[in-house]
Formats: sequence, C-alpha cells, structure tokens
Amino acid sequence: MKPLNPTPRILMGPGPSDAHPRVLKAMATPLIGHLDPEFVAIMDEVKSMVQETFITKNHLTFVVSAPGSAGMETCLVNLLEPGDECIICINGVFGGRMAEIADRCGATVHKVIAEWGTIIEPKQLKKALKKCPKPKLVALVHAETSTGVRQPLEEISDLVHNAGSLLMVDAVTSYCGVPLKVDEWNIDAIYTGTQKNLSAPPGMSPVSFSDAAVKVLENRKTKVQSWFLDLGLVKNYWAGAKRAYHHTAPVSSVFALREALAIVLEEGLENRWARHQRNHEYLKTQLEDLGFKFLVKKKYRLPNLNAVFLPKGVDEAKIRKQLLLDYNIEVGGGLGAFAGKIWRVGLMGESCTKNHVNILVGALKELL
Ligand code: PLP
Repeated sequence: MKPLNPTPRILMGPGPSDAHPRVLKAMATPLIGHLDPEFVAIMDEVKSMVQETFITKNHLTFVVSAPGSAGMETCLVNLLEPGDECIICINGVFGGRMAEIADRCGATVHKVIAEWGTIIEPKQLKKALKKCPKPKLVALVHAETSTGVRQPLEEISDLVHNAGSLLMVDAVTSYCGVPLKVDEWNIDAIYTGTQKNLSAPPGMSPVSFSDAAVKVLENRKTKVQSWFLDLGLVKNYWAGAKRAYHHTAPVSSVFALREALAIVLEEGLENRWARHQRNHEYLKTQLEDLGFKFLVKKKYRLPNLNAVFLPKGVDEAKIRKQLLLDYNIEVGGGLGAFAGKIWRVGLMGESCTKNHVNILVGALKELL
C-alpha cells in the first residue's frame, strides 16, 4: 500500500471547510474509552458549548454520532408518527430531503414549494395552514446550501406557533456563520452539521429540542422506528454521570468537536458572524469585477455560501477542475436545476479569511 497522503486542498466549497490546526491536533489525541469518566466530562463540556452556540437553554441538546442527514432524520423520526400531518417547505435540495424522510415516517406531507434561489414567503405558509390548520410540525431550511438562500425565520415562527405546531429548522449551513437564536426564535427542533462554519470534521450532528418538542416525544403512541436515532434511548448516553451505554461515540471526532467549539466561543459568535459577512462583501466585489453574478437577492444572500453564475462563455466544469488540480482550490458546482450553471463558493469557518478570497481570485484571474 502507498502511504495515505491526499493532496492538501484549500476548501472553499459547500463543506467540509478547512480545519484549524488545533482541531487537527485534537483528532490525533490518544484514544480513551467512551465510558471513561474523563470522556464523560468532555461530552458534558461539548453539550454545554453546543447549548451556548445554539443560544438555547434546552436540556435535550446533544450531538448525534452521524452526519447532518442523521440529525435531520433524528428530528423527523422522533416527532412524527404514522398518520400525522406536517408541512415541509422546499426551496432546494435539503427541503426535498426532509419531505422524503417525513413521508417515510408515514406522515401526510403538505409541501410548500418556492422557486430555487428564493425564500419561502410567510404568505405561502399562511395559505398552506388554511388547508392544513394544525400540522404537528412545520419544517424548513435556514440556510439552503444548494442555492445560498438565507431564510428569515421570525415571522414564520409566529405563524407556526399560532397554529399550535412545532417549528423544525435545518441549520447545517447557518450554525456559527450567521445569526441563529434558537430560544429567541422559538425553534422547537434543530439540527446542524460540524463540517461547515464550525470547521470540525464531518460526521456529527448537534441537535436540540424545546420542552414543547419533548412533550410531543413523551406522548408518542408508537415506537420510534429507528433504534439508533430514538431520542428516548440515546438521550441517556448524554446524561452526564448517569450515562448509560447506547453506542460507542466517535471519540476522536468528539475531541475535535470540543476544540472547534472552544475556538468559536473564544472568537465570540457575534464576531464570527461579522467576519463571515465582511469576507463575503470582499469576495462579492472581486467576483462581480470578474463578471460573476449572484443568484440570490442581496437581502436573502448567505455570506458563507455564495451561489454565483459564471461569466458568459466560461466552461464551469473545466475551470472548476483546473482550480482543483492546478491550484488545489475546491469550490462547489451547482446541484439539481443549477448543475453546470452555478458555482457554490464557501467561506465557512477557517475557510473564511481575506487570504482565502485573495487566493481564489488570484487563481481565477489567471484562469479566466
Ligand atoms: N442540510 C443542509 C442544509 C446541508 O447543507 C447538508 C449537507 O451539506 C445536510 C443537510 C446534510 O448533511 P450531511 O451531508 O452532513 O449529512
């Protein structure tokens, strides 16, 4: 076997992002047992840092030992039972994935669909609530990675709670990169990933549930169909000293996650949000000078996921490949309807620096 030696890349796609050397070093920490009291203490620290970064006091807050899609599935399989009604908002790939999972839960799924690249308008939800006045939950994506849209949540949250429903939010691409306030915005179920603005390795999914969501869980009539994701079981694994064996945590990844969360809190959430906005503005000016055009209206643009049309006549796949192979820079291509049409340029966490922008723009100036 050849030694493991992947080419170092500059990660400016939709995730994973570059990791801080402290995070990489944490991953190389010698293993300890996942039931070791020292590891239990580390899990407690991680839990409280996740609460702090979600800006929530929710007790039921922990990290699913699997990627963001498993966080999505955790929320849906626990909150929905066969025969329940829910509203799922779809304006890109990930809303579609939520609808698919909700359907597999046996729920009746009412879809609110908006054009890719636009937000879900509150009036669309109002209309859906006329047809289905009391869904068990309404789910939507805060930061749609397939299009770069940032979904405003506050007005939607009021509509959902006035209907007596739970609000579920996908925060995979918004967490630690743009303002996200779980308690203030009354979010009942939220999941995220570790590989975007947090700049930790992929494969874990912080989640959090409000007291109202916990009540729904406690009143389930049927068993959760997934054993691994059943909150009734897995929550005891994150119960501090009273912890009961459930599965074997990814110890090295949890070490890395602890370090990445510490870095976020040292920087401060507000400073981190401001850094993402600042570097986005810088990138935007440079890309527009080169002839790129943004897909999303300024008001709803994510600073950390820049969805852009290429200048006329440029072969996107060819240039993207050259960026990767000749300059070691990864940017994302378009998904679904936007495949071959847009790029998704990530400025996430450790990959969100002026230096990253300069390197990318310098390469593009040579290539175009
Ligand atoms: N939701 C959103 C908005 C995402 O961007 C992603 C991944 O990119 C996911 C869910 C799924 O996360 P994962 O790929 O970690 O399973």
